[in-house]
Amino acid sequence: MSIQDVELVIVGSGPAGYTAAIYAARAGLTPVVIAGSVSAGGALMTTTEVENFPGFIDGVQGPDLMASMQAQAERFGARIVIDDATNLDLAGDTKVIATGRGDVYRSKAVILTMGSAYRKLGVADEDRLTGHGVSWCATCDGFFFREQHIVVVGGGDSAMEEALFLTRFAAKVTVVHRRGEFRASRIMAERVLSHPKISIQWNSEVDSLVGAEKLSAVTLRDTVTGEIRDLAATGLFIAIGHDPRSELVIGQVDTDSDGYVRVDHPSTHTNLRGVFAAGDLVDHTYRQAITAAGTGCAAAQDAQQFLAALD
Ligand code: FAD
Repeated sequence: MSIQDVELVIVGSGPAGYTAAIYAARAGLTPVVIAGSVSAGGALMTTTEVENFPGFIDGVQGPDLMASMQAQAERFGARIVIDDATNLDLAGDTKVIATGRGDVYRSKAVILTMGSAYRKLGVADEDRLTGHGVSWCATCDGFFFREQHIVVVGGGDSAMEEALFLTRFAAKVTVVHRRGEFRASRIMAERVLSHPKISIQWNSEVDSLVGAEKLSAVTLRDTVTGEIRDLAATGLFIAIGHDPRSELVIGQVDTDSDGYVRVDHPSTHTNLRGVFAAGDLVDHTYRQAITAAGTGCAAAQDAQQFLAALD
């Protein structure tokens, strides 16, 4: 256990956190990145091919991209700590960050980049088949499913958006919804219902997934009759929502009704002096590695200007 005074602490080590670390380190701030103990590297550690991060003509594996970002941040002097932030005291001029191993960091500025988590179905093999047919992001992975049958699970606006977007690639899209009507806005629901490539499985939920190396079918359960049936499909997009990982800071920084940290757009300033936030933790909409990296860059610059003004 130790108590350390540092200039800047970054909580989170996804594209937002590591990009903030690269910029802050190059500005001479020697940031400490509290990377997380089990999910260091962030959401891209759970995927395979990333084809839309600029600069990689042939794509890049998610974990390789994150290892490069980490190495790049370390090259300029960022310190990566594989540990969880377990308590943050952000209100005063000195921010206090306690970790799971019992260390305490004190700093004048903090950048929050804890990301958000896609809600899972909670069925067997969901993790095993992620990146092998199972996805949470049509923008990221739709291109891999050209001329295939894709199942989309969900009944809200995001599920409608995912289904409509996927019609650009898929031979056929089936939307699986556990109720008898969508909760999405009427206009989005109507677009889905009238689309020639989309069919709906009402009153159905995913019971289990079929596939050894890759997904080959989705087993559905009828929520009214309990009947079980297999639907052959090579793609499954789960669109049942996502939750920001803001539990540590709720009640300290302003959040919206869904728990996303509010920032003073286009800056990354939160309502607390010296506290900045970036990436999927603040972003309902775009939720891409490149947008997270972009706001991570902005947060480092905002933090740097804040610290410079204190001197
Ligand atoms: P994250 O990457 O989620 O990182 C959050 C970080 O916070 C993690 O390091 C975690 O360990 C840390 N953390 C959380 N709580 C704590 C705590 N208490 N203490 C310390 N650390 C903490 N985007 C693309 O652009 N292209 C793609 O192809 C693509 N594919 C994807 C595939 C999958 C399966 C998933 C899930 C997402 C994909 N995305 C893709 C989206 C992209 O991964 C996210 O938009 C991006 O990672 C968000 O970056 P972030 O830094 O905001 O958060």
